[in-house]
Amino acid sequence: MYTVGKLTKHYRALVMTALLILAAAAWAHADELIIHFLNVGQGDSILIQTPVGANILVDAGDTRAGTQVVVPYLRSLGIKSLDTVVITHPHQDHIGGLISVLEAFPVGQVLADGQIHTSRTYENLLILIDEKDIPFRLARAGDRLDIPGIDEAVVLNPQEPFLKGLNNNSVVLALTYGRIKMLLTGDIEAEAERRIAEGNFVTKANILKVAHHGSRTSSTPMFLEAVQPETAVISAGADNQYGHPHPEVLANLRSIGSQVFQTSLAGTIIMVSDGSSYRIVLAEESREVEEARAGGVE
Ligand SMILES: [Zn+2]
Repeated sequence: MYTVGKLTKHYRALVMTALLILAAAAWAHADELIIHFLNVGQGDSILIQTPVGANILVDAGDTRAGTQVVVPYLRSLGIKSLDTVVITHPHQDHIGGLISVLEAFPVGQVLADGQIHTSRTYENLLILIDEKDIPFRLARAGDRLDIPGIDEAVVLNPQEPFLKGLNNNSVVLALTYGRIKMLLTGDIEAEAERRIAEGNFVTKANILKVAHHGSRTSSTPMFLEAVQPETAVISAGADNQYGHPHPEVLANLRSIGSQVFQTSLAGTIIMVSDGSSYRIVLAEESREVEEARAGGVE
């Protein structure tokens, strides 16, 4: 009976894996860009998969999220290596998980803000990047990144001299795929939003990763009106100690007509685009459906 039980368990795992791959295939076609906003609790982790197979990871949540969420998620997608890892800024809720990511996957290059910060986690991360001899490149406003499979990737922030506070010097990326524009803002606050706007770097975007987990220190009406996002994604932990997202940010987003998705409510949020339109897929929903089906098979 033990053997049968073990086989059944093994079979069930195989069915689950096959169904998850099928589910992944159903999310996207070969010519589509996929952006996963991972549910890492209080923190950020965003995976960009381009139509030609480039994988870019922007942050990896905190240390726990790295081992428990980000690494297993990347493995479940069959990812073997990452072309670029972006460090938006050196706070624990963005970089903590990068240590386990760098230990689990070969990485082509690291793109970072390059701010000085003396936490043990950040020092360990920099030591690991050095030990693994991963090319380390600074991102500065105006830089254009060569990301195979998308039309344009422009750095909007930081600029030197740096603004006050680590958050304001987060790496901000504007991505264009066909007619679809996406803006990833790290944890920038009002000062950086103003500087980006004054430098004429601000662009309209269909999809906005809302800055700093929906904190009221960010997402100023001026910035939101300039970006005009149809879809806003907020990455924050359920019942986090900061009260993110703040009600006034949600109200400001809704007042300009944005549809708001929150990882704390929806789980991992996936954007899929063919360059002319896009759709939002919620990973938890598809996983639940597939689990129910796997149960039925057995
Ligand atoms: Zn943060």
